[in-house]
Amino acid sequence: MDRILVTGGAGFLGSHLCDRLLDAGHDVLCVDNFFTGSKRNLAHRLSHPYFELMRHDVTFPLYVEVDRIYNLACPASPVHYQHDPVQTTKTSVHGAINMLGLAKRLKARILQASTSEVYGDPEVHPQPEGYWGRVNPVGIRSCYDEGKRCAETLFFDYQRQHALDIKVVRIFNTYGPRMHPNDGRVVSNFIVQALRGDDITIYGDGSQTRSFCYVDDLIEALLRMMDTEAGFTGPVNAGNPVEFTMLELAEKVLQLVGGRSRLVHKPLPEDDPRQRQPDITLARDKLGWQPKVGLEDGLKETIAYFRALLQEGAGA
Ligand code: NAD
Ligand code: UDP
Ligand code: UDP
Repeated sequence: MDRILVTGGAGFLGSHLCDRLLDAGHDVLCVDNFFTGSKRNLAHRLSHPYFELMRHDVTFPLYVEVDRIYNLACPASPVHYQHDPVQTTKTSVHGAINMLGLAKRLKARILQASTSEVYGDPEVHPQPEGYWGRVNPVGIRSCYDEGKRCAETLFFDYQRQHALDIKVVRIFNTYGPRMHPNDGRVVSNFIVQALRGDDITIYGDGSQTRSFCYVDDLIEALLRMMDTEAGFTGPVNAGNPVEFTMLELAEKVLQLVGGRSRLVHKPLPEDDPRQRQPDITLARDKLGWQPKVGLEDGLKETIAYFRALLQEGAGA
């Protein structure tokens, strides 16, 4: 049994990761400031003898004793990370420094939840790990994109300078149960709008693309990456290479939910990437991993989750 720290563990991905680690018999410490996460995501685990939930902001030092660290703390939806952009950069950068300092003192293995946003609005398609990206350093997405890029830099410098045992995973758009209903990301927006019979908001003409990975597949990639041999650092892309336009996604959601929602167009946000698709050759080779859950099956699970949430009135 390992003692494992999950920062951002009360969020969408973090709570699923805590579940998998507890089920595998580990002792899990979840640290979260509940900015976008919620105790509700972990309510079913609060009485577990090997689970501990600590309210803490990773921009402040943290002194605990653990064997492994998954660093997921950071708001991920554009609406939330742009709400307090200075705090977003601090979370990525000061948060990484503190967690790396902790890993250094403990000689603990540490995994960083990085993002496809490090590629920005890419001119290479699909994106392999060797592509350096096209990121605006002074735009409204920069707090997140550049914060995450700087966190990657810190991880690799701690590895070179202090021989830290690091792992970096670049996560592409992931969806599933426990996304926040007001999170602003496209899958949760479209499903909640369709379930309520509200208009479905397509930003721009809806021809921009994303590739959506179901949460269970993504968590499997994080677990496998953490268990790779020492010296294999990544970065490794993790995501589903099947690419859709936002119009196709809206139509798929409408078809699965039914109802009377109309598609309406809203302005495209600034610096919104045109296309996004992971090249997962490295994950296939080094992790023996590829996604198993198709969009339709994943959407059905996610729709069932939001339907139950809205019926309880918790999505208000
Ligand atoms: P989320 O917003 O649901 O989870 C983030 C968690 O971090 C929340 O519980 C939040 O309260 C917590 N947090 C934020 N700032 C903190 C701070 N300063 N101190 C402590 N806790 C803090 O988002 P998610 O989708 O679960 O994303 C988890 C991680 O994965 C993030 O690092 C995100 O950048 C990365 N990621 C996610 C996706 C995706 O599609 N879901 C894609 C790329 C990268
Ligand atoms: N740190 C932490 N927990 C620890 C060890 C360090 O939060 O168990 C923080 C510490 O506050 C420091 C940061 O991690 O600011 C970086 O630590 P490092 O040892 O790399 O740097 P230094 O302390 O030498 O500035
Ligand atoms: N989007 C949309 N309608 C919405 C929310 C998002 O058309 O209600 C678009 C958004 O402009 C982007 C894509 O969906 O092109 C994915 O957005 P999201 O915020 O989920 O993730 P990211 O842009 O970070 O990949």
